[in-house]
Amino acid sequence: MFRTQHIQIKTDAQIDKMRAAGLVVGQTLEKLRAAVAPGVSTADLDAIAEESIRSAGAIPSFKGYHGFPASICASVNDQVVHGIPAGAQVLRDGDLISIDCGAILDGWHGDAAITVGVGPSVDPKYVEMAKVCEDAMWAGFAAARIDGRLSDISHAVERVVRAGGDYGIVTGYGGHGIGTEMHQDPHVLNYGRPGRGPKLVRGMALAVEPMITMGAPDTDELEDGWTVVTRDGSWASHTEHTFVLTDDGPWVLTAVDGGRSRLGDAVTSREPVSPDTRDW
Ligand code: MG
Ligand code: MG
Repeated sequence: MFRTQHIQIKTDAQIDKMRAAGLVVGQTLEKLRAAVAPGVSTADLDAIAEESIRSAGAIPSFKGYHGFPASICASVNDQVVHGIPAGAQVLRDGDLISIDCGAILDGWHGDAAITVGVGPSVDPKYVEMAKVCEDAMWAGFAAARIDGRLSDISHAVERVVRAGGDYGIVTGYGGHGIGTEMHQDPHVLNYGRPGRGPKLVRGMALAVEPMITMGAPDTDELEDGWTVVTRDGSWASHTEHTFVLTDDGPWVLTAVDGGRSRLGDAVTSREPVSPDTRDW
């Protein structure tokens, strides 16, 4: 491991450790996706997450992070990110929830988030927003190439969001380098012109996380010191994965299938398909 321009570059062995951490996060988020339902509280989801992470021998990285009290961020409806799980926050049919989850395994981090509709009555416009947000994230990975530039990712994210509809792109928060800490250099914007910023190199690991809204992009932080909400009350979506750039392209470490279903087989050619990972 060495650092260039404050960016931590990972060796193959370290990447394999990040994959193990990423799978804990990916597996946990799939359990949470399945658990989301009307009547379930965000504290219930947090308990499921902590149990899933600890039973895998990992540590919930969010818990205690600058004093954050839980293992997930649960952000409902007009909450964008960093919502604190609570027993009193019971999900209702028609809600939209973003769940962000991180884990540390053997000293290495994974970080990912999903946005999920609650119950059968979610307005299709919110389902569509969540899809656009997720598609934008995947476009960001697809744009990441060795010898490309960091803002190629940002540009690809923005392009898909703009093509998808009249959404606000939240600019106060974004993606980040990740490795032996959850948040490392560089910051990854969700908008911008291509061809700028640090050169993308083999072994660079980044979390890409678009946040978009049905209205304006402006946000406020609530008095709890964490929860970020839209200023205009419009609902928001947030999607995130951690990936590493390999000779074969981006390997999406927090996706259970490594990104194969979205990016093709080449990206996970380093990884044998074992029953362990396939069943997650
Ligand atoms: Mg996250
Ligand atoms: Mg993140």
